[in-house]
Amino acid sequence: MASLSAYRQKLWRDYDALGRTLRLMTSQGPLTPGSFYLMRRKCGKPTCRCARGQLHPVWVLTRTESGQHKLYSVPAAQRAQVRQWAGAWRRYQRARAQLVKQIAALLAQADRLVQAQQVDWPKR
Ligand SMILES: [Zn+2]
Repeated sequence: MASLSAYRQKLWRDYDALGRTLRLMTSQGPLTPGSFYLMRRKCGKPTCRCARGQLHPVWVLTRTESGQHKLYSVPAAQRAQVRQWAGAWRRYQRARAQLVKQIAALLAQADRLVQAQQVDWPKR
């Protein structure tokens, strides 16, 4: 069985890790929800080269708005900016998911420490 001090040390290390994640989450700067990626699609003109399989590349931002899947094409002039904002959003979401796991691990570790300190009273 691990010593109480080892339990405590791990608890505080977990707490520090949680703080680092929180700092990551709050240092992203401007962000916009959604996924930014390159899509290839048809324009619909029957005589266009895309009708023969040479699809048009379009940079898009997709997101869910009130339960609806939305797709926005991103103009060339705004591409770098939107890429950056969407990247910050993705990093925020990743860090947030990590925080959820870290909080659960922190509580479990606190419970292990307390369990190790638990006194059996009255004796059975
Ligand atoms: Zn076309």
